[in-house]
Amino acid sequence: MTRVFNFSAGPAVLPEPVLEQAAAEMLDWHGSGMSVMEMSHRGKEFIAIAESAEADLRDLLGIPANYKVLFLQGGATLQFAMVPMNLLAGKKRADYVNTGEWSKKAIKEAKSFADVNVAASAEDANFTYVPEQARWTLDPASAYVHICSNETIGGVEFHWVPDTGSVPLVADMSSNILSQPIDVAKYGLIYAGAQKNIGPAGLTIVIVRDDLLGHAPKGTAGMLDYKVHADAQSMSNTPPTYAIYIAGLVFKWLKGQGGLAAVGEKNRAKAKLLYDFLDRSSLYRSPVRAADRSIMNVPFTLRDEALDEAFLKGAKERGMIQLKGHRSVGGMRASIYNAMPMEGVRLLVEYMKEFEAKQG
Ligand SMILES: *Cc1c(COP(=O)(O)O)cnc(C)c1O
Repeated sequence: MTRVFNFSAGPAVLPEPVLEQAAAEMLDWHGSGMSVMEMSHRGKEFIAIAESAEADLRDLLGIPANYKVLFLQGGATLQFAMVPMNLLAGKKRADYVNTGEWSKKAIKEAKSFADVNVAASAEDANFTYVPEQARWTLDPASAYVHICSNETIGGVEFHWVPDTGSVPLVADMSSNILSQPIDVAKYGLIYAGAQKNIGPAGLTIVIVRDDLLGHAPKGTAGMLDYKVHADAQSMSNTPPTYAIYIAGLVFKWLKGQGGLAAVGEKNRAKAKLLYDFLDRSSLYRSPVRAADRSIMNVPFTLRDEALDEAFLKGAKERGMIQLKGHRSVGGMRASIYNAMPMEGVRLLVEYMKEFEAKQG
């Protein structure tokens, strides 16, 4: 068996010990005589799996007791609609900060429900920075303020938490949740699709302050109402059981790594290795403003895009895949989520050096 170093933005690399444990438990979970996939979601075995996944996530992020954790489906994309559906609460307006492709998608969807105020945008510089809060034009009458805390495509990350006063802050953390400690109490709602930095596709995690529940307008389908899911412990219908199980194993693995402070340190070291190299090189370049660079998704370009194909081919020959940048940005992108070991980043930087030397 040969495993590659997978730099995909998502679905993405998972920790090897998690995959090994899942394989070992595939046919018979803890003496139950069945796979987790075959269990009733209402049976005591699966209830225990879901409860410990939630408890470990609460532990890792230090989620306060007045926040609910929901295990949903539909991806972060469904949250682009569920957020306005549930949080407008009779108001008309919502503030959005536009830092890139995922912000744009959230804004587009919200426009079906709300009068969207784009409080700040980085479009003027091709989404290569996070606009300082001093330049935002927040509307105090807005129901919430939405940010994308890490733009997976552009590689732009908030390294600070906006102060929105009493207006709830909502964050799409799909690609940087669990990458380092956060203060959950500064947010009204956090959501994340699992397939970037948590587990398999099909699971979406929502962390929501309980006073924001129960405001969906009459006529909202139950599946789109946070309160329905909260009241049913995310078992209003069949949840994505296997994805919840794998996410639970990942949470245990993260605790075993020393928790999010230790994980964050490793992530910063991995990102630093790559960015320091990019900044010293005359072949490669990071397009993102230094202060706003993502520690999870690192886009970079080669001086001459005619070299892209040869670069990708050589990387693949060395067991490094999915380095091609998003079609909207071009160039390369290395996603270096929690489960990407330092060894993978070192190998990438060594290869990049070697490739640069060959260009003369
Ligand atoms: C991947 C991604 C999404 C979309 O997630 P889906 O699960 O495909 O709906 C939204 N926001 C961000 C920041 C992402 O990285």
